[in-house]
Order: sequence, then C-alpha cells, then structure tokens
Amino acid sequence: MSHKFIYDITTFTALDYPDYLATIIWFAKCNMRCQYCYNKDIVLGEGEISQEEALEFLDSRVGLLEAVVLSGGESTLYSDLLEFCIKIKEKNFKIKLDTNGLNPHLVQLLVEHNLIDYIALDYKAPKEKFFVITKNKHFDDFSKTLNFLIARNFPFEVRTTVHNDLLRVEEINRIIEDLCKRGYRGNYYLQPFVFTDTILSKLKEEKTTFEKEKLSDKLQVIWRE
Ligand code: SF4
Repeated sequence: MSHKFIYDITTFTALDYPDYLATIIWFAKCNMRCQYCYNKDIVLGEGEISQEEALEFLDSRVGLLEAVVLSGGESTLYSDLLEFCIKIKEKNFKIKLDTNGLNPHLVQLLVEHNLIDYIALDYKAPKEKFFVITKNKHFDDFSKTLNFLIARNFPFEVRTTVHNDLLRVEEINRIIEDLCKRGYRGNYYLQPFVFTDTILSKLKEEKTTFEKEKLSDKLQVIWRE
C-alpha cells in the first residue's frame, strides 16, 4: 500500500478540463506559499487517500467520466506520480495536470511517456517578484518547464492569479512580453483573486483596481471570472 498523498477527490466536474467530464484528485502539500492561495487546508494538510484507493474510485467511474485532473497542492512533489499516471492511463482516462512548474524533470518524463494530455501551468509572477508572491526562489525551474512545453508544442495553457495589490498590470504585461519572447502563442488566462476564509495568508481584498485597459494585446487574454 502506498503512502497517503491525496487529500481529497472531487467526484465530478464539467468545468475544470475543457470539453471533458472529469474527476479532480487533490494532492496534499505544496512547495510554494502563495499569499492568495485559497487551498490552505490542502497545502498544510496531510494526505488521507492512497493511490490504490484513488484507483479503486476511478474503476467505479470508467464509462461515466472521461478524464482525471491532478491538482493540489502540487502533485509533482510525488515521485510515484509517474506510476500513478500509468495506472490511470490503463483505464483510458485523459489526464490534465495543474502545476506550478517547479519540477521540470517530472513534467518532462510525464510528457515524453505520453502520460499527460493537457497542462495548466501557473506563471506566478515575473522573476524579480517570484519570491515575494510564492515564497519560493526557484523561478529557473518554472522557466525550464515553460520552455520545455513551448519547444515541444505541447497542448497547455498559462495562467496567473491577479491580486492587484500584489501584481499590477505592468507586471502582467511583463509576463506577456516574456511569454511572447519565448514563443508562447496560446491563450493567457487571468484569474481574479477571490477572498474566502480558506486563504493561506492574511491577505484581504484588493484596495486598488486592476487597470484592464492597460493590458497588453500581444496575447489573447481570457479572464476566468
Ligand atoms: S496557489 Fe500556490 S501555494 Fe496554493 S497550491 Fe497553488 S502553488 Fe501551492
């Protein structure tokens, strides 16, 4: 029996993986501490479900659901994610990975073994602001993941959470510049911060307003309200 790394399972979503009915597997723990994170319990909590238990659940969904979303927390913290994905694929599910990009090696392995069908990659902040937002210094690892996915022409999306007191439109425009320079041509998704009582830090609602009219038009920007 493997360790219990999974915090929870959302049995059904039609929203998280474009065009597919999916289940979401939430992995406990994260190697970031984003101030705006609304998954405090997952990031700080312990896993309660083993991979075997999750696979048993997936068995009961064969024919009912089409896909599995691996989310968290950060699922790429777990070295046996590869083996887990192999077992999910044996059940013919598509797999979407939500990741902060800090494990380029594992992402590369998953992609090269055709174990992942789609990735949502968080671009947390420009390099100089990365630590302030995430409390993690490894922008270069994120950068490697991004470059790898672009070079591979892999189907993925880039997204950023916007809290205007933390990240201004000028900084979002620097991210857009950087994405264009690297050759990213996909959509860029912005998610406005939503205050809940499960926020990881003491962050409150924004006191300033994001100046949408100043957003660069070099990429197709889509707001996920
Ligand atoms: S928002 Fe940040 S801290 Fe929260 S799960 Fe995502 S990467 Fe981890």
